Amino acid sequence: MFEELAAVDPSTTAFITIHNMATWMLGTWATDAVRGEWGEALTSGQKLASYCLTEPGSGSDAASIKTSARLQGGEYLINGGKAFISGAGSTDMLVLMARSGDAGAGGISAFAVPADLPGISYGKKEHKMGWNSQPTRTISFDNVRIPASHLLGREGEGFKIAMKGLDGGRINIATCSVGAAQGALAHAQRYLQERKQFGKTLASFQALQFKLADMATQLVAARQMVRLAASKLDAAAPDATTYCAMAKRFATDTCFDVINDALQLHGGYGYLRDFPLERLLRDARVHQILEGTNEIMRVIIGRRMLDGDAPDAIR
Ligand SMILES: Cc1cc2nc3c(=O)[nH]c(=O)nc-3n(C[C@H](O)[C@H](O)[C@H](O)COP(=O)(O)OP(=O)(O)OC[C@H]3O[C@@H](n4cnc5c(N)ncnc54)[C@H](O)[C@@H]3O)c2cc1C
Repeated sequence: MFEELAAVDPSTTAFITIHNMATWMLGTWATDAVRGEWGEALTSGQKLASYCLTEPGSGSDAASIKTSARLQGGEYLINGGKAFISGAGSTDMLVLMARSGDAGAGGISAFAVPADLPGISYGKKEHKMGWNSQPTRTISFDNVRIPASHLLGREGEGFKIAMKGLDGGRINIATCSVGAAQGALAHAQRYLQERKQFGKTLASFQALQFKLADMATQLVAARQMVRLAASKLDAAAPDATTYCAMAKRFATDTCFDVINDALQLHGGYGYLRDFPLERLLRDARVHQILEGTNEIMRVIIGRRMLDGDAPDAIR
């Protein structure tokens, strides 16, 4: 579904995928009380959720977050700030990662935070290159009180929960790139058959036929890789995280190139807002940056191939 939607509108599709990821995290780790109160509204899409990990001083180094959660008489007191939060200001529930313990990943907990609690304020809507159908804002937490029952999983499990969410999130974002590239490729196929130069359709030039062939081949490779990672995740394979990182890295890079090639095949018209190519390109660009940059995907893959008792054997 996400692939089909993204062929037309990667930005809105990605917004839905982030809601999907955050809702899955709540469905998996929230208490019965929170799931009972929020489950139906979130799964039906009547209410929307945001994923709140990044901070102004903590992006790729996500284990260094500083937003604090202090337990005080049955409630957590939240203070700090998040940056780059998709949907912020328009969503109803925040899946928040905050520090309840010591420095490092083990001191982080995850919480379900209703988005309109006293003490929560939102920054201006960021002006972005793409993803303009959804807002991105900073969020400030100033002595925000949430019941202890809003903890997800156990104290100290927040980083693990955040990363588990991103395994699926990365497949979602990769899928948005595959869909966007499919949309761009279809536009290019049509355009080559319609547009004439030198008295012939562009489709009659073998250089452009070869370009189209390469684009289609790259796209299929990206799609297959995403589906392989998705099947690993469904099967809870021990190397699923590695495959999700590989799929995200490969599909978002490859599909960006396919969209860029489709724009090039449209000549000057590809650069105009009258045609959909420039928007597909602007929307897909950020997929190489968020849910972990593609450099961080390489860090994850490399580490898992080299570290630990049982390094992932890639076959
Ligand atoms: C439109 C948009 C929406 C977003 N939505 C959300 C959201 O909903 N929730 C959320 O929590 N976050 C969100 N983010 C944040 C996003 O996940 C971060 O921007 C991303 O993780 C990178 O962090 P950073 O911007 O701080 O870059 P930095 O971490 O400062 O990285 C800068 C550069 O250095 C590279 N780099 C950093 N460390 C290493 C290393 N060890 N080795 C090699 N290279 C490295 C990076 O790859 C990058 O190229 C969003 C971002 C954008 C742009």
